Amino acid sequence: MTEESFTTTTAGIPVESDEHSLTVGPDGPILLQDAYLIEKMAQFNRERVPERQPHAKGAGAFGHFEVTHDVSEYTKADLFQPGRTTDMLIRFSTVAGEHGSADTWRDPRGFSMKFYTTQGNYDLVGNNTPVFFMRDPMKFQDFIRSQKRRADNNLRDNDMQWDYWSLSPESAHQVTWLMGDRGIPRSWRNMDGFSSHTYMWVNDGGEKFWVRYHFKTNQGIEFLAQEEADRLAGSDGDYHTRDLWQAIERGDYPSWTLKMQIMPFEDAKTYRFNPFDITKTISQKDYPLIEVGTMTLDRNPNDYHTQIEQAAFSPSNMVPGIGPSPDKMLLGRLFSYADAQRHRIGANYNELPVNAPQSPVHSYSKDGQMRHHNPGDPVYAPNSKGGPRADTERFGEPAGWQTNGDMVRAAATLHSEDDDFGQPGTLIREVLDDDARDRLVSNVVGMLLNGVSEQVLLQTFGYWHKIDKNIGDRIETGVRSGQQQ
Ligand code: NDP
Repeated sequence: MTEESFTTTTAGIPVESDEHSLTVGPDGPILLQDAYLIEKMAQFNRERVPERQPHAKGAGAFGHFEVTHDVSEYTKADLFQPGRTTDMLIRFSTVAGEHGSADTWRDPRGFSMKFYTTQGNYDLVGNNTPVFFMRDPMKFQDFIRSQKRRADNNLRDNDMQWDYWSLSPESAHQVTWLMGDRGIPRSWRNMDGFSSHTYMWVNDGGEKFWVRYHFKTNQGIEFLAQEEADRLAGSDGDYHTRDLWQAIERGDYPSWTLKMQIMPFEDAKTYRFNPFDITKTISQKDYPLIEVGTMTLDRNPNDYHTQIEQAAFSPSNMVPGIGPSPDKMLLGRLFSYADAQRHRIGANYNELPVNAPQSPVHSYSKDGQMRHHNPGDPVYAPNSKGGPRADTERFGEPAGWQTNGDMVRAAATLHSEDDDFGQPGTLIREVLDDDARDRLVSNVVGMLLNGVSEQVLLQTFGYWHKIDKNIGDRIETGVRSGQQQ
């Protein structure tokens, strides 16, 4: 023990014992004046921050993003300029499970990234799927509740999952993707990541593009069959967490190649699918992938709580050269993510080291709980006291678009090939092979045979029939024959 390493209270006061409470005689009652004991108990009671509502179970690592190809004709964002390398953090997660739930449940995986750029933090809050279950944030809360637990017995429930899905036709693409092989990756290293949303890129000349991000795994796509995933859920609930940690510890650094789909601004109006509908993919045959760079994870956290649990991602963190699109789910998330962090961690969550940018902060925000650094005077703008001023000339052009119309509550305009069942049908018929189709049928039938009511079964057979008649027939036959056994 060095002289400095004796135990103290959190106020730095040396403590007398790590083992014994202060009592009246060795057998007597504990004294309330044992401030150290009280601090230990009180602090322990407050050790957890509220877990994330969705995406509670996860882990992450640090790394860097290196630009390998010149995309400066599409964006002026500093982190995507030739030769740039940017420090970053990633967090992988499941969606529905709680903090201690098994990594290998069938569920989309969160793929959240924070890039510490020279122009502030850029967060991309993606998933391992290119699409999502709904296209309007009005439905998100209901969807998540249907995937979590019932009110009466606190059990997860296939009946409510399929009830929600089968009554929400726009979920068909994501559900088909999820029930297929990629619905349970072998490890986080063996899956792709997607922005899922369409974003805007703006170049130095003010030209705008619509873009989707694809992080393609360099470890190869691998998946777990349902039986193997179920077995692992029982024997090692932290299977994916452990895999990532161990790979980085042994120097086997996982990497992903970032490739973009880039659509000229005007194409969006006439493209056959609405590019701002997150339940649709943009065909890679129409907009092929354009390579940008490589993301490599090479450093494990050394403090899970402060570096991963308290990591706060929000798609509203966009840097110059990148903007939102009219995707309604994205626009909803621009509010809800930062708001969730204010609730979960506190208003000053951006001051925590893992969330703090590596570039200077000149904000007029001040005070609030756990604030430990204020900008000082002047506390207002405009001022004649030398305080920071927005540089409208450099940063004034909004990455935006024009719109007008009546105030309505309505679905977005359909493009020529938009319907909820077309793209999942293509996935089944043109992308999956026979073995993958067999596994998809078996995965769905397995779920439907476990606690799904007749009414919801009927809704669900109709849903699959619309996705693909043949697969719908096979699912219905599989369930009916399974019920007789
Ligand atoms: P492409 O043939 O150009 O692309 C097919 C895509 O499907 C590839 O990205 C491929 O990923 C992916 N894929 C392969 N196997 C599976 C699987 N088992 N589960 C999920 N995805 C898989 O066709 P299009 O771009 O025209 O899209 C056709 C269909 O492919 C879409 O309707 C959509 O369902 C699906 N898809 C499309 C994506 C897109 O962004 N356009 C992305 C992912 C799926 P990989 O190259 O890694 O094998």
